[in-house]
Amino acid sequence: MTELFTDDYALARDAADPLSSLRGEFHLPRHGDMKQAYFCGNSLGLQPRGARAVVDEVMDKWAREAVEGHFREPAPWMPYHALVREGLARVVGAEPSEVVAMNSLTANLHLMMVSFYRPTRERPAILMEAGAFPSDRYALESQVRFHGFDPATDLIELEPDEADGTFSMAAIERAIATHGPRLALVLWPGVQYRTGQAFDLAAIARFGHAAGAVVGFDLAHGVGNLPLRLHDDGADFAVWCHYKYMNSGPGAVGGCFVHARHARADVPRFAGWWGHDQDSRFRMGPAFVPTPGAEGWQLSNPPILGLAPLRASLQLFERAGGMQALRERSVRLTGYLEALIAQRLDDTLQVVTPREPSRRGAQLSLRVAGGRARGRALFEYLERNGIVGDWREPDVIRISPAPLYNSHADILRFVRGVEAWRTGNA
Ligand SMILES: *Cc1c(COP(=O)(O)O)cnc(C)c1O
Repeated sequence: MTELFTDDYALARDAADPLSSLRGEFHLPRHGDMKQAYFCGNSLGLQPRGARAVVDEVMDKWAREAVEGHFREPAPWMPYHALVREGLARVVGAEPSEVVAMNSLTANLHLMMVSFYRPTRERPAILMEAGAFPSDRYALESQVRFHGFDPATDLIELEPDEADGTFSMAAIERAIATHGPRLALVLWPGVQYRTGQAFDLAAIARFGHAAGAVVGFDLAHGVGNLPLRLHDDGADFAVWCHYKYMNSGPGAVGGCFVHARHARADVPRFAGWWGHDQDSRFRMGPAFVPTPGAEGWQLSNPPILGLAPLRASLQLFERAGGMQALRERSVRLTGYLEALIAQRLDDTLQVVTPREPSRRGAQLSLRVAGGRARGRALFEYLERNGIVGDWREPDVIRISPAPLYNSHADILRFVRGVEAWRTGNA
């Protein structure tokens, strides 16, 4: 097994995989004379080399055409969001009419809750995971209050039942069944941001619907990471961002899925002109007639400059052959990281993320033995050496090999970095 830990092995694995060439399509941040070993694509994905040209194209069009840019080919701004529709639908496993790129994740979560969190006295509650990303918790708690209910009783936060802070499907099923008659909504992550645990979304949708609840997913860490089948899994809605595994830049325009069965004009919503039926939008009439599908939830004409990099990013997902091919590479990379940690670092790093590849995505969350001070020291040592993960209090380093640009050689560098630090800090 020691042969795993050699440059020859890592370089041979990278050379054998045709997807390794996609790394060349990204700007890798520098560390002195070297490139960083960048494992933070779960927080901010790297810039595709093609992104600048797409943004420049918008800037040039604006300079040359001004208002005419809304209508003139190529890539007129009026239907600009439609340029990413098909590619996005493929990434999340949806029909094109079920997805839209708009706003940002938390804003979309609120808009979806306006339509799909309709609490009643008998059924006021939301089930979510304890330890959720704060923005999700703030959004849900404020929605519960907005409707005049009490988060203390009506925002149910399921505690993890497994040792490392992860959830068994049995516990999720039990919680949904137990609270079922009071549940208006189940809101669950595709991949939990702290532990990296991935969930069986079809099963969660089934449990929730069997209990009479609406089921929504936050896919911030799922999109571009795992193959998704939102339509077939039956989610009512989903929201996500595009700046993590989707590599579309800081604050990139977010994404939203509304299942085709809700593509009806009578679904209540907060409305804006860009969601109005496209054929009659510019008659500027007083009555709102939603465009069918997810696009009927748009409010404003989208920030074209914020949307442009997503076009470059989606091209790379296409070139990779889609999410299934990327996922196979991802399983190999993350499996390599896990194997090397088990072989060489198990006295220093404890893997918090589930061991089964089916229960995780790209990310491994690594608890540093010895507590916070030791963990911070290791994290800062790695940063000084151009090995970039991120830190989650109190003692976890998240390392996420992104299959579009990370390599086996990057992973070897991480493991060697931890070993070098351990030698100096025994
Ligand atoms: C990254 C992330 C967010 C960020 O929300 P924005 O509205 O895009 O700022 C929210 N929720 C989860 C679970 C995340 O991982």
